Amino acid sequence: MDLSLDLAGRRVLVFGTARPARRVLARYLASGATVYLASPPVDGHSPGRPSPQVRPVEYPHFPHGWRDLVSAVDLVVLVDVSPGTERIVVAACATVRVWLVREPAASVAALGHVTLVGGGPGDGGLLTVAAIQALRDADVVFFDRLGPNDRLDEWCPGAEQVNVGKTPGYHAVSQAEIERMLVASARSGQTVVRLKGGDPFVFGRGGEEVIACRKAGVTVTVISGVTSAISVPAAAGIPVTHREVSRLFTVLSAHTPLDEEELRHLVGLGGTIVVLMGIGTLPHLAAGLARHGMAGSMPVAVIERGFSIQQRTTVARLDTVTAVAGQLGVRSPAVVVIGEVVRLSQNEATIADGLEGLELLHHAADLARQQT
Ligand code: SAH
Repeated sequence: MDLSLDLAGRRVLVFGTARPARRVLARYLASGATVYLASPPVDGHSPGRPSPQVRPVEYPHFPHGWRDLVSAVDLVVLVDVSPGTERIVVAACATVRVWLVREPAASVAALGHVTLVGGGPGDGGLLTVAAIQALRDADVVFFDRLGPNDRLDEWCPGAEQVNVGKTPGYHAVSQAEIERMLVASARSGQTVVRLKGGDPFVFGRGGEEVIACRKAGVTVTVISGVTSAISVPAAAGIPVTHREVSRLFTVLSAHTPLDEEELRHLVGLGGTIVVLMGIGTLPHLAAGLARHGMAGSMPVAVIERGFSIQQRTTVARLDTVTAVAGQLGVRSPAVVVIGEVVRLSQNEATIADGLEGLELLHHAADLARQQT
């Protein structure tokens, strides 16, 4: 069953204490509901202070008070209550037929936690279940330019959203500063999500962020994501391996040019070559691979802005790709695939030599993608 409730203007009563219930309270406030928090009487320790928009309610003093309380709202939410209170609230809701749901409590450890979350290549559908759960529980989310950012309000309602995105050549927030912010947020007791494009450990500097957290004594976990290295070629119909065509693929960053040794080994290895951050150095790479013996007829695909409505696939050959990419104004972010598997991107693949044929090819491939 896929049930969604419009809670705007509805009254929601949360049973719990402010700190463990903080994520739940933030989510219901973000839904537009009027939110009440019923907390047990304080017994010595501070229950924490809910956001000023949350309306505090006292536990009823008389048995019939519970029924009166729950019948005044549209939805009751149980977060962290004693088994005795839970029994009373469940019974009261059943008697007056008010909806009741249970939601998990947030961490109340003095030291927070950092979760590095792989957000996939930009399509929200390629987020994992674990990623969705981590986002839902986050107090604060640090996100990038690549990856799925457009639905954060939906995935982590009420969480603080911090854009630390980088554009090529311009670092909005330095890596050291990002690491400092992650550690500082966790140290203040927050549940922190660092949302990254693709997979955090594929050219995502995720390893550095893990080390920074560990050094600072902050616990950190990693949720793998769908990497663009595999999914963006797939979005253009290219499998990175294929029986009897390619049994290995090499993923490389061409952020800086490869040296002669690397080029020589790459050609010698064979298989599929997948290049990330490779648009700026594409002429150097194509010339270098040819110099080390790769056939000029080797098919090359450049897939720009995968999973967006502007996704464009350009297919050329090793000896034409530089000219073609230049003429078409191919831009980052893009994944370059070099290898025989590129021929599989169309059913009856022909690698076009002329520009006219190429345009047709992009068109056919992208239309086919939109239709599926
Ligand atoms: N950790 C990421 C990669 C980060 S490096 C991952 O696993 O996918 C950034 C590079 O990834 C970009 O320069 C581009 O080469 C590639 N990339 C990421 N998302 C992309 C997309 N939607 N379309 C095309 N290329 C993409």
